[in-house]
Amino acid sequence: MGVSTVTQQQSNHQPSAAVAAFLRRPKQLWIDGTWVDSVSGRAIEVYDPATGRQIDSVQAGVAADVDRAVAAASAAFESAAWRGLRPADREALLWRLSDLVARDADILAELESLDNGKPVGLARMVDVNGAVEYLRYMAGWATKIHGRVIHPSFAGLPGAEITVNAVRDPVGVVGQIVPWNFPLLMAVWKLAPALAAGCTCVLKPAEQTSLTALYLAELVAEAGFPAGVVNVVTGLGHEAGAALVAHPDVAKIAFTGSTEVGKIIGRGCMDTMKRVSLELGGKSPVIVCADADLDKAIPGAAMAIFFNAGQVCTAGSRLYVDAKIYEPFMAGIAAFASGIKVGPGWAPDTQMGPLVSAEQQARVLSYIEIGKAEGGELLVGGEAQGDEGYFVKPTILANVNPAMRVVREEIFGPVVVAQKFATIDEAVKLANTSDYGLGASVWSEGLSTAHRIASRLQAGSVWVNCHNAIDPAVPFGGFKQSGLGREHGEEAINLHTEPKSIWYAV
Ligand code: NAP
Ligand code: MG
Repeated sequence: MGVSTVTQQQSNHQPSAAVAAFLRRPKQLWIDGTWVDSVSGRAIEVYDPATGRQIDSVQAGVAADVDRAVAAASAAFESAAWRGLRPADREALLWRLSDLVARDADILAELESLDNGKPVGLARMVDVNGAVEYLRYMAGWATKIHGRVIHPSFAGLPGAEITVNAVRDPVGVVGQIVPWNFPLLMAVWKLAPALAAGCTCVLKPAEQTSLTALYLAELVAEAGFPAGVVNVVTGLGHEAGAALVAHPDVAKIAFTGSTEVGKIIGRGCMDTMKRVSLELGGKSPVIVCADADLDKAIPGAAMAIFFNAGQVCTAGSRLYVDAKIYEPFMAGIAAFASGIKVGPGWAPDTQMGPLVSAEQQARVLSYIEIGKAEGGELLVGGEAQGDEGYFVKPTILANVNPAMRVVREEIFGPVVVAQKFATIDEAVKLANTSDYGLGASVWSEGLSTAHRIASRLQAGSVWVNCHNAIDPAVPFGGFKQSGLGREHGEEAINLHTEPKSIWYAV
């Protein structure tokens, strides 16, 4: 097992004709419905994480490019071509876009796998199908945004009959800054509610993984969205991203990424009082009770962390196991982890791909060293795999304690830290001892035990006997330093609309 056995094939692997053709095309910025060059003249290299070899490059958009994109988005926001559309027309456009993403699902999945490293089957099932379903769910909201009528008790206008229409206006131009772990899906999570609400968009993909966002830009045009409604500016966070945050004509920033950058963005937004939603990091606990069904809990807890190589904001990266079952549980999860097939994304039997970048691989490996130095006991993994690409083996560090950095800090890789607990109170206390509060799971066959724990956990999503279940209809976001605001469902529409009260005195 392992990449060393497929290195030769890896080097020889050829992308499909459609993906090869896309890669050959020079990449530009998508502004006002057309491809344009960045004024910077600089490129960002794009690497295949399975080989470390360069496969493409994208342009490094800068503030002047963001100015152009925001101007296009502002003009589109005011245009009859967009503002004049009926809600049902926006719904139809979003459906058409979902159909185009579905039509090109194989291309998008292959491209995502090549760019990010994830297994192509996972990209197809989770990223691309997830994007299609998200667009379709949000399409339905376009026709369901409405206000309410209030009859106030206001006495300041004697003789007048007063009615208030409390409505929701689209917020305006939305700047969308997304990370590299689910590049297409994160872009769609940002674009779909904004478009359903009637906003216009400037999207900045992650520097490591911009390819599917550029592919999507043309699908947006093919679907029939007017020029300027969606713009894509590739570039670096501290250049293109920061310019979006600072731009006075951007009404709202929607961000997913690290808590560290989220704080910078949140502060930046206050300068012009931008609306801001932040989906940030996590250190999500997985609590395995003594009455858990181990046949479900062992693979469940393993995939809670190893899915997408642990590069998931809700990854179940802290494992708390009842002392009564600690030994058999840890033996089971260690066996599961060492059986995970790690390899290049294109190989059909790959279960876990490489990490996204050399930087991320180095970061994760350094956390493993920190964990060992802090006294964590390495059960499996703990090292890179193969001699090329950014692979890290599934890793379990046991006997940790809450003071350790590997327990407190987000690693964002295939590394889980584990410790036992004696009582439910202790499990809840350990789980809640974190600056983060994004996800959590509880594994128990007892409904009342599971419910009692779930109701005490400080997390935006709590899963019982499952982990990482996500749906466009279900609010998603974090407690504490895991973020601000909730995406998905009606909450996502609320993030993109501005409440307005219109008073009528007649
Ligand atoms: P990041 O820096 O938070 O990047 C997320 C996005 O923000 C990227 O598009 C990034 O651009 C942009 N950005 C960075 N600095 C910015 C700034 N000053 N102003 C505006 N935009 C800015 O995350 P990362 O560097 O890719 O990863 C670092 C760590 O963040 C990971 O190890 C992980 O712990 C965490 N992370 C969390 C999530 C999550 O979903 N919660 C996702 C990704 C990463 P660039 O592409 O140029 O960086
Ligand atoms: Mg960064």
